[in-house]
Amino acid sequence: MISLGIGEAIREETAKRIHSYPARSIWASRLGHPCERHLVMAQLNPNDAAPHGVDLQSIFDLGSELEKYVLRRMDAAGIQVIRAQEPLEWRDKGFLITGRVDGMVVDPGGQGEAIPIEIKSCSANNFRLMTQAEDIVATMLGGPHYMQCYPAQLMLYAWSKGKSRAAWIFCDKVTGIIKDRVIEIELPDHVEYMESLLLKAARVGGHVAAHTYPDRIDDWEVCADCGWQQICYPGKSEEDKLALIDGMAPILDEIAALTAGMKPGNRRLGILKEERDKRIEGREGIVIAGDWRGKKGKKSWSWKRVEGEDGPGGNLDADTQDRR
Ligand code: SF4
Repeated sequence: MISLGIGEAIREETAKRIHSYPARSIWASRLGHPCERHLVMAQLNPNDAAPHGVDLQSIFDLGSELEKYVLRRMDAAGIQVIRAQEPLEWRDKGFLITGRVDGMVVDPGGQGEAIPIEIKSCSANNFRLMTQAEDIVATMLGGPHYMQCYPAQLMLYAWSKGKSRAAWIFCDKVTGIIKDRVIEIELPDHVEYMESLLLKAARVGGHVAAHTYPDRIDDWEVCADCGWQQICYPGKSEEDKLALIDGMAPILDEIAALTAGMKPGNRRLGILKEERDKRIEGREGIVIAGDWRGKKGKKSWSWKRVEGEDGPGGNLDADTQDRR
């Protein structure tokens, strides 16, 4: 196949911009993360985190561009965004939460009051889900770990600014369609959730001060996306032994491409699967091969590419803004 090499050149340029931001506080965009140990490691072991890959950096870049697109479209529609990128600092006994609020817009249902907004670009599926979801917060909290972080972030923005409402502005990455959803912060369930978050922040702050770590969680889906997986997961249990397999990632990439119908040739698929199975023969627990994570289940292996469609951070732009 003939190529101008544009993709490769862009990947190379993207790789040069990959940078980690050590956390000196709990980021508002991460407080909802299901693993407290992860939040503690972000502050105690910032240099031990595996750097994110080119795919994830590209998701950051796209999120950043889409945020500008959303703001332009809002502006063209006459919706004014004020106090853009205002910093948030929530300091209490033993913890500090920081973040940056995307902006504030006037709430037509709130007598001209401005409320905080958070722009999230998402996959077409998640965009649809956010339309259908009756209880959007409960839906997010029951979703993948990156989506579980959304309600905590927006509620923190509203609470820190003394507002009773806040809004997500969702943008469908495929169609560019934009919509908003407002949450009421003072609903009993939401107040209870916020209180639990502040207790969580206090526990994390306590561990950071004492240089201790909370227990590991037992959720492979979450650990597979965690930057500290390689120093945290191996000791998890005897059965969960972790193996790093060099040179296997291209095989898994090609299997994924063939399975998705991007390339012809079923015979090749069979050969690749055979090669993959040979390399993991007799292994137990977790296998790491480049961006791929494999886990042996009761009957077969399951494979997951760490950098998914929405990525570990959904609209990851918010995360980059919080990394100060
Ligand atoms: S590897 Fe898993 S248990 Fe360890 S810090 Fe990360 S998410 Fe938590």
